[in-house]
Amino acid sequence: MLISSMAIISTTTRGRKVTRRAAVDEARMAELVAFTARSLKTERPVPFGSSIVATQSGEVLLSALNAVAREFDPSSHAEVRAIRLATKKLKTLSLAGYTLYTTCEPCPMCMSTALWAGLDRVVYGAMIEDASRHCRQIYVPAHEIAERSDMKCKVEGPLLRDECYALFTHPNMLKAFSTWSTRKHKDKNSSARRGKSS
Ligand SMILES: [Zn+2]
Repeated sequence: MLISSMAIISTTTRGRKVTRRAAVDEARMAELVAFTARSLKTERPVPFGSSIVATQSGEVLLSALNAVAREFDPSSHAEVRAIRLATKKLKTLSLAGYTLYTTCEPCPMCMSTALWAGLDRVVYGAMIEDASRHCRQIYVPAHEIAERSDMKCKVEGPLLRDECYALFTHPNMLKAFSTWSTRKHKDKNSSARRGKSS
């Protein structure tokens, strides 16, 4: 009887934890979408934004946008920028204890950086195939990069996929994509697969 009661409590507790985490994930992602959407009214709109958040408390450390064009740096993806800013801010090489939220599934470069940084989790919104409708992509799923490493990092998504993908299809963003060096040309090849440049 006692064992059975404990089992119920344990299950309930686990259930609550899962629910709380899901609620935190959704709230943080919604905030990130709003943060990223602010760029849509600027001269350099981008659909790619990332946040570094304390895994346990859900407190946001910082958020960053893709700055490839602004910094003339093909590696200035939102995820890499957020990680660089976070490690510098915390004066540490390890982001263990933190989760990366990102409006689009990380490319192999960004997912690798997340692994090297020791992040607990990566939670993404839209998928590489969504981004690939508008700009070129590298078609390796983020979870596959994590699985092929000997580092532990949970990769979860898509979360709020529609809301995140709406960043890509905003009229200002569609207009901006036409100027991107990684824009998707409307030819036979581009329609074959869908591709990103976070
Ligand atoms: Zn990337």
